[in-house]
Amino acid sequence: MFIKKIGIDLGTCNSLVFLPKRGVVLSEPSVVAVSLDENKILAVGLEAKEMIGRTPDTIRVYRPLRDGVIADYRVTQAMLRYFINRTGGKLSFFKPELVIAVPAGSSSTERRAVVEAGLSAGAKQVFVAKEPILAAIGAGIPINTCSGHLIVDIGGGTTEVAVISLGGIVTWSSIRTAGDKMDFVISDFIKKKYNLAIGDQTAEEIKIKIGIALPEKEEKLFDIRGRDLITGLPKTIKISSNETAEAISDVLTEIIQVIKQVLKETPPELSADIMDKGMILSGGGALLSNIDELIARSTGVPCFIAEEPLFCVAKGTGVVIENLDFYKKSIMSKK
Ligand code: ADP
Ligand code: MG
Repeated sequence: MFIKKIGIDLGTCNSLVFLPKRGVVLSEPSVVAVSLDENKILAVGLEAKEMIGRTPDTIRVYRPLRDGVIADYRVTQAMLRYFINRTGGKLSFFKPELVIAVPAGSSSTERRAVVEAGLSAGAKQVFVAKEPILAAIGAGIPINTCSGHLIVDIGGGTTEVAVISLGGIVTWSSIRTAGDKMDFVISDFIKKKYNLAIGDQTAEEIKIKIGIALPEKEEKLFDIRGRDLITGLPKTIKISSNETAEAISDVLTEIIQVIKQVLKETPPELSADIMDKGMILSGGGALLSNIDELIARSTGVPCFIAEEPLFCVAKGTGVVIENLDFYKKSIMSKK
């Protein structure tokens, strides 16, 4: 089958591919493994992620988009090529059109790099669109009305907050504080409180399994294994959900601060719309238990979690690519 249109969400944590009529067909970690001697890309996606923490000195495994910007053109191109190939799209004859999501704060040079990477990965044409707008479209928000909408996307590396009206971004802000930072502070908390060193993956697992934004009466407990920093030996301890709330509370405060900042800069008419309708949360961070309640309580604005928050941006690229002519003029940066 020849695939003519592809939407891609190149996230800091996960990359997703959307095909018209098929939906999200691929979701893999945005990870690459590179051999340091020959500077060759050895693996991309899941295969590369499995190498984390298990490689010899000669191999480096990393997330090229960690902070939401594309620093390495060659690696980005390799990732794009890999994701396009994995969808089964034959690029030899029919070249596909791509819509790629980029962070709202990306510079024109960075956007250019994404476009170039897409073209050299075999696309006929590449359109880039800003993540918050795509997240809003994917969350089912009617972005082209003159009413204001607030979208908060909490990903791995960045949290992006934007007010959208008439198809464009009116006010926005972005910080490099999101899911990764939660993992980091959980692992730091356990190190300080229990003298136990745990890996990044374990910290993320704790967050996903028992992580909460607000303490609760009935705590959940979770067994974790790590290395005792005093004896150097493996050890198992129990950690509770309320401890995760304590560990990540500063990170959540930072996220709430940036939401408040954007609200402050929003024109009053749009603020009134947002008060009425509430804000929408997307991205993997929206799946943290209670986060909607905490944000609503701290900002005084009702807060709703989008359906399938991890898929919002990818679904948004899908809507755009199926209606290219309509969106070409409005939301897309030029080729
Ligand atoms: P990006 O767009 O930056 O790639 P995603 O939107 O894919 O990021 O979200 C990834 C982040 O969401 C990771 O930090 C991951 O740990 C976090 N995440 C995924 N599921 C959950 C969950 N159930 N609870 C809390 N965080 C989650
Ligand atoms: Mg994202």
